[in-house]
Amino acid sequence: MTDFAATKAMFDLPPGVLYLDGNSLGPLPRSAPDRVAGMVSDEWGKMLITGWNKAGWMAQPMALGDRIGRLIGAEPGHVVLGDTLSIKVYQALAAALALNPERRVVLSDSGNFPTDLYMAAGLLRSLDKGHELRVVAPEDVADHITDEIAVLMLTEVDYGTGRMHDMVDLTRRAHAAGVVSVWDLAHSAGAVPVDLARAGADFAAGCTYKYLNGGPGAPAFIYVAPRHAGNALPALSGWLGHDSPFAFEQTYRPGTGVARMRVGTPPAIQMAALDTALDIWDMADMDDVRARSIELTDLFIQLVESTCPMLTLASPRDSAARGSQVSFRFEHGYAAMQALIDRGVIGDFRAPDVMRFGFTPLYIDHEDVRAAAAVIADVMGNRLWDRPEYQVRAAVT
Ligand SMILES: *Cc1c(COP(=O)(O)O)cnc(C)c1O
Repeated sequence: MTDFAATKAMFDLPPGVLYLDGNSLGPLPRSAPDRVAGMVSDEWGKMLITGWNKAGWMAQPMALGDRIGRLIGAEPGHVVLGDTLSIKVYQALAAALALNPERRVVLSDSGNFPTDLYMAAGLLRSLDKGHELRVVAPEDVADHITDEIAVLMLTEVDYGTGRMHDMVDLTRRAHAAGVVSVWDLAHSAGAVPVDLARAGADFAAGCTYKYLNGGPGAPAFIYVAPRHAGNALPALSGWLGHDSPFAFEQTYRPGTGVARMRVGTPPAIQMAALDTALDIWDMADMDDVRARSIELTDLFIQLVESTCPMLTLASPRDSAARGSQVSFRFEHGYAAMQALIDRGVIGDFRAPDVMRFGFTPLYIDHEDVRAAAAVIADVMGNRLWDRPEYQVRAAVT
């Protein structure tokens, strides 16, 4: 059993804050400041260029990839870190399309995160082969998987509502129709149990600064199924994805397996922060995390609905169809969220009217949920959001 009191003690949360936004940016692990400072002074400072070998900076993208791989059911050696999730989505989609060269349609859904759709549209434009990006309602995806589709590109857990696709079922349908699958795990990794190998997913990508707590700017990860690893096209053929980067050959030769999805120099300082965040994940079992997450989200829904009739649940009521977040719609959602943040309950707002709360069992417990729900009841019941200072929108919501 995961000891959630022990994992909670590993995080440095400011006093008076109930942090329900770990689905956007995970909090600071207590070990991170010393680890990052040590990396900077002892590794960068003293080892200088030799740190790439001596401190293992160059091997980190694969080593940390395996630590994340455990949480998403990936076969060892088939996850690598680097770049941002937008870039990794682009790479995965490009490789998936190259495996299905006769077909011209990418299928996604309207609940996908905009950057995934933007990157797909940009890729299809530069391919200039007449591809279409077909975006349907999330509940209609299964019906649109036909032999016309080249690639099914989905985000498993909807960033706005927490609605969760059935990865196993949709991947099976995709394969039956000769479709290659690309799964975005941004709101899945560290939030729900994922078993990429069992699902037979072809490609997957995700970020490490949300539920995995790697810190702002932490690198993304990409997974390529073992059966594709030797022939996946590296569309961004950077030198560190080359088979022999330090041979400095004039011509690109793809590296072995998923390592070919590396592009350029890895962010060594950022990886030190992620490495220490993953130590906490070593204390956790994903099935325990899921069970606790369901308890917390169910409790939250029950408490908020019983005190705040003006809020409308935007997330699935059925916990099996929901990730680790709960969203409510409210016309003045932005102002209400500012009022909550002012009182220490940190969630976030997603346009046009969604108030979003993330539940992260590693450091949020039942008592936190009760305390947050009481503040929400106060803000909503007493219209505390209805003040001019809460109406002004900041750049990052
Ligand atoms: C958070 C998120 C991203 C963010 O992409 P970055 O390149 O890391 O900024 C992309 N896709 C989804 C589904 C997300 O939830």
